[in-house]
Amino acid sequence: MSDLFDQASALEQHTLEVALTHRKPTLKDTGHCHWCDELVQPGAHCCDSDCRDDFDQYRRKTNGGF
Ligand SMILES: [Zn+2]
Repeated sequence: MSDLFDQASALEQHTLEVALTHRKPTLKDTGHCHWCDELVQPGAHCCDSDCRDDFDQYRRKTNGGF
């Protein structure tokens, strides 16, 4: 029986690791575009898709260091 239990907890551990890997660091809602500092809608991080793409790319390069 312990084999089944070990498999279940290995799967659970793996699921947790995957979830943590894909978790995005939360950004502060500043009301301004994180890329060009334009005013944005409440809850938005970037003013448009260009800024979001540039910002996402920057964040990936900087290892999500926010
Ligand atoms: Zn912007």
